[in-house]
Order: sequence, then C-alpha cells, then structure tokens
Amino acid sequence: MHNFTITELIDGLKKRVFSSEEITQHFLARIKNLDSEFNSVITLTEDQALESAKLADQLLAEGSASELCGVPVLHKDIFCTQGVRTSCGSKMLDNFVPPYDATVIENFRNNGAVMLGKTNMDEFAMGSSNETSFYGPVKNPWSTDSVPGGSSGGSAAAIAARLAPGATATDTGGSIRQPAALCGITGLKPTYGRVSRWGMIAFASSLDQGGPMARTAEDCALLLNCMASYDDKDSTCIDRPVPNYSVNLGDSLKGLRIGIPKEYFSEGLNAGTEQAVRDSLAEYEKLGAELVDISLPNTGLSVPAYYVIAPAEASANLSRFDGVRYGHRCEDPKDLEDLYRRTRAEGFGDEVQRRILIGTYCLSAGYYDAYYGKAQQVRQLIRQDFTQAFEKVDLIMGPTCPSPAFKFGAKGNDPVAMYLEDIYTISTNLAGLPGMSLPCGMVDNKPVGLQIIGNYFDEARMLNAAHQFQQVTDWHQLAPAGIES
Ligand code: GLN
Repeated sequence: MHNFTITELIDGLKKRVFSSEEITQHFLARIKNLDSEFNSVITLTEDQALESAKLADQLLAEGSASELCGVPVLHKDIFCTQGVRTSCGSKMLDNFVPPYDATVIENFRNNGAVMLGKTNMDEFAMGSSNETSFYGPVKNPWSTDSVPGGSSGGSAAAIAARLAPGATATDTGGSIRQPAALCGITGLKPTYGRVSRWGMIAFASSLDQGGPMARTAEDCALLLNCMASYDDKDSTCIDRPVPNYSVNLGDSLKGLRIGIPKEYFSEGLNAGTEQAVRDSLAEYEKLGAELVDISLPNTGLSVPAYYVIAPAEASANLSRFDGVRYGHRCEDPKDLEDLYRRTRAEGFGDEVQRRILIGTYCLSAGYYDAYYGKAQQVRQLIRQDFTQAFEKVDLIMGPTCPSPAFKFGAKGNDPVAMYLEDIYTISTNLAGLPGMSLPCGMVDNKPVGLQIIGNYFDEARMLNAAHQFQQVTDWHQLAPAGIES
C-alpha cells in the first residue's frame, strides 16, 4: 500500500478499494516501526489522524469528497498546527503549541487530507543537511551514513522511505529542491507569493516559500492545487487565480525551448551528476524539446548575496524569540538583559546564532549600504539574468545540487562548503522564480536531481515537463534498498 502514489491512493479511495482509515493506519504503523532508523518524523499525531480519516471515509461514502480527501500527508514542523507542537527544529520552540493553523495547513484540512504528523528539519530551516535540528539529524534512506539534505530533510526522507506519500516543505534557498534531489523524490518551490506564508515560521521573509514534495510530478500538482491560494493575511501573497495544475500534465513537449545555463555545468560539479543531467536533457530532446545554450552570468554572486540577505532578514525575524512572549525561557533570570541573553544562548543552536550575528552585523549602521544594500543590488542583477533568459527559452534546466548526498560531518565544520550546496538553487529564490527537482539518475547508489526553473507563475509548464519525463523514465520509481518489502 505504501508504494501507491497519491494519484493511485485517490483512485483507490474513490473506488473503495481501501478506506482512508486503513491507509492511515498503514502509514502510522510504518512510521512507528521504521522511523527510529531515519528520525524523519518528530511528532506523530495518531489520534487526530485516525479521527480525520474516519471523517474522510464518511465524506467519501457520501460522494462529497474534495480532491485530497482521506490522503495521509506529513507537514514540515515549520507550519503552525493548532494544538500540535510546532518546533521549527529548535529548542526555542520545543514547548510551543500554536493556537492556530497556518493557511497551508487550513487548506489541507479543508481539502480533507489527513495529517500524520510533523517532520524533522534543520533548526529554523537553516541548513542543507538536517544536522542542525535540535531533535538530531535525519538519515538518508538511500544510505544512512549520509545526509538527506536540508532544511526539509525530514519530509524528503519520509517520502523516500514510503512513510507518507506526500509532504509539505519550505524553500528559502533550496530547502525543497536539494533534499528532494538527495532523497530521490520530486519537490517544487512555487513562485514567491503563490503559497501563503501565514503561519509558516519566518526565516527570511522575502525568500521563504512553501511547496509540495511527493514521489512524482503528478502528485506534486495535486498537492500544489491544495497549497496555493490567495491569502489576505499574507501581504506578499499574490491575488491571482490558481490554475488546476493537473490538467496540462499530458501536453506534448514538442517545440519546448529549454535553456541550459553554462554556469550550472562549471567546476565543482560532480562528473556522475553532470552525466545524469546531460542524459536527462537528451531524453527531453527525444520528447521534442529544443536545448538552447544560455548564460546566467551573475550565478556566482548568488551565494554571497543570499548569505547577506537571508541572515539579515533572519536576525530581524528571530528577534521575537526573547523568552517573554512564548518559547523557551531560561531559569531564574537576574534581570531583563540576563533573560534575553541566556534564553537566546540556550534556545538557539550554533548555526542560528551564527546567522543572527552575521545578519545583525550586515544591518548595523555603517555596514548596511556596504553589505545589505549591495546584496540587494546584486539580487536585481540576478533577476535580470533570468528575465533576459526567459525571452529566449520556456524553461531552464540543470543540476539541482553539485553532488549526491554527502556523509554526516563532511561539511559540518565548514559553513562555506555547506553554503555552496545551494549554488544552483539560491538564485531562483533571490529572483522569486519557481523551481523544482526530480530524480534523474543514480551515482554511487545515491539519487541525482534534475532542476527545472520556470518563469513567474509557470508552475503548470514545469510540472508538465517533469511529468512527461517521468512517463519515459523510471528514476522516480526506484526505492531505497529494503524499503519495498
Ligand atoms: N541551505 C540554505 C540555508 O541554509 C537554504 C535553506 C532553506 O532553503 N531554508 O540557508
């Protein structure tokens, strides 16, 4: 049952081949039996899940079910869930039980989906390896001595291990696409403003975007149909009709112009990864697409610009965690200053503190123009690179990450090496563009991701291209050893 995609589960539910209660029980049991090895789920909402499943079965029987009715999903622990702890992977929020649901969660509830639990993640979504979580690292189901990627590594690993058919995730600089690539699943970061950020704990507000993860593009389309909505509670959410992302999946790719940025195939790219990506591009040619060489000349500036802008915004966003309103509070503070200092020193891990320091420094008087102002100018140049490219091409493709999953500890002591993991993903966040990753090969028994970047609000075209690829390849069907049984 756990090998069914969401599309197949929906079909089985509609035909009453199985009930939502049965599949919910099945996935809950898998999480309980298998996740001690992966650590991908940090809160299991068993009672709630079974209750929602029963309700879904009633709606299905009445014939009044919406698209995702009865489908079990996991949510990244960055989305506030009413009455259910939302930790953001941090000691700071280990005791935080939100009194409300994020809009994304509300959308899933209204759609009848069943929440199985909340997934592990890098602390406050800062990281590329899931090693910064307060709850311990997540292990990659393909190779448990390797990282699953981050920050949405819990969601990605859970899907790869067939602990859930789909999950929510967020992407500030690559956190949907990079773990999707490293875990051999499909993930999509929508256009900035497509999915509401309300109730999604803020890291860098001008970059953060929620999106779906599943095994196939077809399933990501179903999840995005539910996640995307206009929300007046998020002032950056765009008021624009949400198309049905499932309807154009079958369109032919004849004449599709795919831009191949030369900067994405430069030094630092693993040879096996490059080969897998090039083979996939050849597959696209067979499907009728035309490959066009392009240049995104400011790609090299994206990581430095991001590591000014993201920490700057994070330092402002995280100032709310002061031990006064909610979250962790130190014991017996001597005075207010002591309360702030010790609460934040105890509640935040090293990487979060590092970002707060960098961000505060970049924003301080005298440095603001030199760092933050400059980074914003670079961001404009990166956006222009894409605007020019999209005059010539419909989609852009390349690798999602420079290499397959690395071993635990390999980059832990070298923040810059870790930051370079996102070299191919970060510029889309800076530009606000949508990007996705889908499995496109294997290197050393580890999955490789193909990245597709689209123009603003062109998610349907990206999903169509990904789906067509998945009709002629089976990389997305591979399962880690020992998982099928
Ligand atoms: N790895 C990047 C970082 O550490 C991106 C994280 C994300 O997208 N949330 O900031």
